[in-house]
Amino acid sequence: MIEAMPVVSATTGLHETLAVLTSQLHPDAKHKEDLSFLKDILSEKSLAYLMKIHEKLKQYEKLGPEPVLDSASCLVEDLTEDLQNGPLDDDERELLVLLSAPHLKAVLSAHDTVAQKNFDPVLPPLPEELNDDFEEESVKIVRLVKNKEPLGATIRRDEATGAVIVARIMRGGAADRSGLVHVGDELREVNGKVITHRRPDEISQILSQSQGTITLKIVPAVAEEDRLKESRVYLRALFDYTPFEDKATPCQEAGLPFKRGDILQVVSQEDTTWWQAKKVGDSNLRAALIPSTQFQERRLRYRMKMGSFPHPNSIKVPTYDQADREDCDCEAVLNGKDLASLRRSLRLKKDRQASSGDGHTPEANHTDFLIYEEVTQYLPRPDENPRLIVLIGSLGARTTELKQKVIAENPRRYGLAVPHTTRCRRSQEREGVEYHFISRPAFEDDIQNGKFIEYGEYKDNLYGTSLESIHRVLAHNKVCLVDVQPEALKTLRMAEFKPYVIFVRPRILDSQRKLLGSTSSLSAGITEEDLMDMKQSADLIDECYGHWVDYVLFKEDAVSALIELQVVMERVQREPQWVPASWLRS
Ligand code: 5GP
Repeated sequence: MIEAMPVVSATTGLHETLAVLTSQLHPDAKHKEDLSFLKDILSEKSLAYLMKIHEKLKQYEKLGPEPVLDSASCLVEDLTEDLQNGPLDDDERELLVLLSAPHLKAVLSAHDTVAQKNFDPVLPPLPEELNDDFEEESVKIVRLVKNKEPLGATIRRDEATGAVIVARIMRGGAADRSGLVHVGDELREVNGKVITHRRPDEISQILSQSQGTITLKIVPAVAEEDRLKESRVYLRALFDYTPFEDKATPCQEAGLPFKRGDILQVVSQEDTTWWQAKKVGDSNLRAALIPSTQFQERRLRYRMKMGSFPHPNSIKVPTYDQADREDCDCEAVLNGKDLASLRRSLRLKKDRQASSGDGHTPEANHTDFLIYEEVTQYLPRPDENPRLIVLIGSLGARTTELKQKVIAENPRRYGLAVPHTTRCRRSQEREGVEYHFISRPAFEDDIQNGKFIEYGEYKDNLYGTSLESIHRVLAHNKVCLVDVQPEALKTLRMAEFKPYVIFVRPRILDSQRKLLGSTSSLSAGITEEDLMDMKQSADLIDECYGHWVDYVLFKEDAVSALIELQVVMERVQREPQWVPASWLRS
């Protein structure tokens, strides 16, 4: 029962009113249950928080805040990139860590979404002189507000009747947003100009000239398209696409340029040849055309037949064989860095897939061609294992050292899947720490017994990662790191470990090469040839395995590379990342 009037006035905030109200509730015998229920609800913490938020927002509403910029996330991305590119002092390093925090990113992203939103577009009333047209029942007048953007529709001419028909509506474009123009509609007039029988380029010109509002006279399609038939598929592009170089596209301007690794949201697969898609992270809401998998595959097959495209199975994996060069545990130094690993060969044993079963085959797509890979966002749940971190490195990247440092700095959080090798133990190495050192026959037995999920040969020694070594780290609930040759990705990419692949490559600055070019040999012990080798090795890995790489770490010096690696690895365990959809289906 409410005993006395709450002490509230017009100026009392909601939050305060709620508190007063709750304090006045005294359950009497008759309504005991109801009133305690009400009291419970009103005392809910979350309700109090909501009220507080409401009040705060009301205050801000009065202030009428304006965003200073609507792309704060981009600014932060640029800044992060700049910071990552340079040597860092303590403050900069701290800033980098702060800017990489998921909460800050989420706040900025929310800010940008609000800042960019175009609220409540107001349609002007129809001009009076158009009223006559309504007598013609089958004709509708559509008035759209658009700025400089295109209409977001393509048209075709019906050769038999000369009618101009809407061929395609781009998702998210002006026409689509209006919901008033549909595929199959006949366009009669644009801004009062009759367009039937006009040439397509004339029509395009009339359409593009109209800014602000555009008035269309339309005969609606008889058969309505099934507009609900829409897919929400996300694809990772496995190739670069430039619509302006594509002669097959129905409209180059309507094409979506993308790069390998971009995530594309496919919003329509109605057309089997040209899908409509948007780039994830692109502020542009309009969809554009991308070749469908089937179409892309068809034309690649055709090009292959004509000899202008190599057969996918004939693409060579890196066999960067420098066996004739000296393997050096020497003390070659570049800017103070030991380059023992620089002169290593990347000779890979070709036929060395581990006998770990069919389930380990990567699923780039259902063909051999690298076209798209269906992906979905994934963040390990608390009851799931953390994702496997796979490091691959090109010449001079020194991933082994990097990996050891990560673990040395945080042994509770990170663990190393200790690999097996047949090479001899070096003086500073300990059995079971850097490697398990075993004989070649023992290694070969283990291969036969399916012990390794991947293995490879490097400079006449075998190296392999056993399933057990990974499980051992995961059993301690640590993030497991492996450092393998890139070819191992084929077998490591599997649902069980959901690996996140980081490609470490040395950053070779142009100035560095120029400097090297001017002197035939270097005091640092690095020749221009070495730099060329490093670049070539990195490019080759990028070309052959780049589509499986989640993050490329350009290593400039060991300290900044370590920080960057730590930031990336934390992000993987905290923020959802795109993974092959097949990993979550199995
Ligand atoms: P190192 O003999 O200098 O310790 O390592 C030589 C190379 O073997 C490194 O490039 C490293 O990436 C590779 N390696 C180390 N462990 C493994 C492994 O478990 N599997 C494969 N495939 N390569 C490995």
